[in-house]
Amino acid sequence: MKILVVGKGGREHALIRALKESPGEHEMFSYPGSDAISELAEIVEVGSDVEELLAWMSAVGIDLCVAGEESYLVKDDGLANACERAGIPCWGPHKQSAQLEASKEFAKEFLIRNGIPTGGGVGVDTIEEARQAIAGKYPVVLKFDGLAAGKGVAVCMEEREGEAFLNEVLVERRFGPGRMLIEEFLTGPEVSIFAAVVDGKYQIFTPARDYKRIGEGDAGPNTGGMGAVASRQLIPADLLERIEREIVEPTVVGLQREGLPYRGYLYFGLMLTPDGPKVIEYNCRFGDPECQAVMPLVKGDLAGYCLAGAKGELDPSKITFDEGWSVCVVVASAGYPESSRSGDVISGTEDIGSARVYHAGTKKSSSGAWETNGGRVLAVVAGGEDRGTAVTAAHAAADKIHFDGLQRRRDIGILHFED
Ligand code: ATP
Repeated sequence: MKILVVGKGGREHALIRALKESPGEHEMFSYPGSDAISELAEIVEVGSDVEELLAWMSAVGIDLCVAGEESYLVKDDGLANACERAGIPCWGPHKQSAQLEASKEFAKEFLIRNGIPTGGGVGVDTIEEARQAIAGKYPVVLKFDGLAAGKGVAVCMEEREGEAFLNEVLVERRFGPGRMLIEEFLTGPEVSIFAAVVDGKYQIFTPARDYKRIGEGDAGPNTGGMGAVASRQLIPADLLERIEREIVEPTVVGLQREGLPYRGYLYFGLMLTPDGPKVIEYNCRFGDPECQAVMPLVKGDLAGYCLAGAKGELDPSKITFDEGWSVCVVVASAGYPESSRSGDVISGTEDIGSARVYHAGTKKSSSGAWETNGGRVLAVVAGGEDRGTAVTAAHAAADKIHFDGLQRRRDIGILHFED
């Protein structure tokens, strides 16, 4: 099968490896890809609009297009919409459905309309409307309703912080034009649930938790994710059943009822509040770095599974999930998350034994050495039958990786919900 994966990060590196390892012969392609991905897949050299990519797919005879990252799902006419027009199976939702991720206000209204547990929320245009909606009640969560490179959400504990963020976003227009969602402040541990969704049917994958903050003990500023842990045992079976009944199923039913075509992974970012699990956000693709932790647990024919799904058939018999644990430790470059230093030479990627290493921010120098080229540099992943074994193996493997200014958290997989 000829498979194209769209994206360039650690998540796509993990997806490509999992698809390539599926039974059968698969010719892998990646757009835009990376130096590390080029060792597993041919890099597609085309311009950045969806039509050009589509023309290339048709010319080469791509059998399956897999959306790794979200941006192409909502670009131009949408990647999945374009693939459908050309008769190319696509594992990723249509543009109108991907609004669940692209617009926080759209997602909030969808959640409320479908009676799915979430914090209360309302969309506003101006600072006056925002003040009226907040009505002096802090803490509150403010979310810019557009692209903001991960900086568009502020959890504001007091009025001073709220006013500062409202000014930046709605008066100074730091992120450009756009509305803002004023959301109820929720408390509790966060968990990431993934499902493969195919036209009203779904299958839940192994639950995961990511570690968003830069510092140990969840201290310091938010990042793209400093690590993740995944296991069926991460949360109790009755809680997972409740999440399925109250959140996953009504979401999939709602998509069908509202005529929102969906074939692909759907991510549910949840908070386990004292009143039960509530949705914080949807993403219309796998999470990063959760994908790097979950993929090694998936056994069987993932490529056949995604192809069948993209054609409208959910076939759970094609894959199984390891019952054990998987731990993913991210190593980041100097200065991250405020900045990132490029050009530091990386050593040790060959010395990690049976662990896996997925590249995110790296490039190959002219001498053939790997160098840092971004904030989050590598994800080192190892598994085990129990949490302790997986944690020890992942951190032992991460210990082998060296470069100047390397940052990593040593409590990934160790710090648990109850801690
Ligand atoms: P991501 O990088 O995960 O895509 P995002 O910019 O889409 O982030 P959210 O996931 O909606 O934003 O929020 C980022 C973080 O802010 C959450 O992981 C959570 O820690 C916190 N947060 C979001 N909504 C709430 C809420 N209602 N109550 C408390 N904290 C919240």
